[in-house]
Amino acid sequence: MVYQGGVFSAADVAVRKGAVEAVGEMIPPRPGDRIFDVSHCFLVPGFVDVHVHLREPGFLYKETIETGTRAAARGGYAAVCAMPNVTPAPDMLKNLKVQLDIIRKKAVVPVYPYGCITMGQRGKGQLADFSALAPYVCGFSDDGRGVQEEELMELAMLAVKKTGRLIAAHCEDESLLRGGYIHDGPYAREHGHRGICPESETAQVKRDLALAARTGCPYHVCHVSAKETVWAIREAKKAGVDVTCETAPHYLLLTDAELQEDGRFKMNPPIREKADQEALIEGILDGTIDMIVTDHAPHSDEEKAKGLEGSLMGVVGLECAFRVLYDRLVRGEKILSLEKLTELMSLNPRKRFSIPGGLEVGQRADITVIDPEKQGVIDPADFFSMGRATPFEGWETTGDIVLTMTGGSVVWKAKN
Ligand SMILES: [Zn+2]
Repeated sequence: MVYQGGVFSAADVAVRKGAVEAVGEMIPPRPGDRIFDVSHCFLVPGFVDVHVHLREPGFLYKETIETGTRAAARGGYAAVCAMPNVTPAPDMLKNLKVQLDIIRKKAVVPVYPYGCITMGQRGKGQLADFSALAPYVCGFSDDGRGVQEEELMELAMLAVKKTGRLIAAHCEDESLLRGGYIHDGPYAREHGHRGICPESETAQVKRDLALAARTGCPYHVCHVSAKETVWAIREAKKAGVDVTCETAPHYLLLTDAELQEDGRFKMNPPIREKADQEALIEGILDGTIDMIVTDHAPHSDEEKAKGLEGSLMGVVGLECAFRVLYDRLVRGEKILSLEKLTELMSLNPRKRFSIPGGLEVGQRADITVIDPEKQGVIDPADFFSMGRATPFEGWETTGDIVLTMTGGSVVWKAKN
């Protein structure tokens, strides 16, 4: 079944010279064609993850562009956008070129880097060189840090607007953190942990929504975790603000009631409560939330072995996001259709970040093939990623990616 124009229908797909040549019934093969019989599968436009940490240059012991993009291909992603918390930080063209050079040599799927908002990706100080970076980046972000001063964010929005790119903001008001490291909720209170309140996210989102309204800068909110944030973005969209947002599988599928004293349950923002989870689902269903990303953030085993308090923030997600989302939300609870999941993981991110490719005739052939019956267990030992920490470890899933094609090249194919 092939996804075209919003629906699935039975068809063959012919790919030639990197592009989709034809979609239709009984396309005759030509000599030399490679044929994949995937008649029991669903074909969707290749997924795009607009929030991935590839750690290179600078932190090769955590992940490399090669291992991270191999993981992406395994997970059905035909392209990814790489966050700028690397060294050197892509705050000027000279630094970005270091990263672009490695991408050119090593990336298994196309990587669209972000440029920094501030010099050194510090969330303060001087603004990055937006006009020089703009032709080579998918947007600007200081992900990992919120831009703390309102004035600086306003200047950034005014300047980024002129480049035609967008700002993707990690919203976190540091003055509200108070040493927190997991959600400020029942679990933190019962187990003596310091909590991160939802206001640290929502307050900065509200500030930025007002700035985006005033400046007209295209604005994207990273990893929405709190119900109040969903409500604020919903209102802003109604008011016509040019805003989109993302959430991640762990916020949709877990609550703080399921936390364990293990670093694989620690990320920023944190997994929140049932009411937040429900608001996120509602936000997805009514279009307030535009896309699902992984926030794939690998660390070494050692960095993740220090429990909830001592481990670094971040979990991996590229190789399990589709499996857990499909198994629980599409198959299990029937909250989403596969068509809707395709919008969230492929169409909407492509549209917002202007990433070419898909399944329509003439497009760059980015195709993800899903076997809806393939069963498995999420086992980090199988990951291509060097990161192993995922809260989904051990989950049994039905439905998996069996082939990923990007630009007509097969970059992942399951063995059986
Ligand atoms: Zn972030």
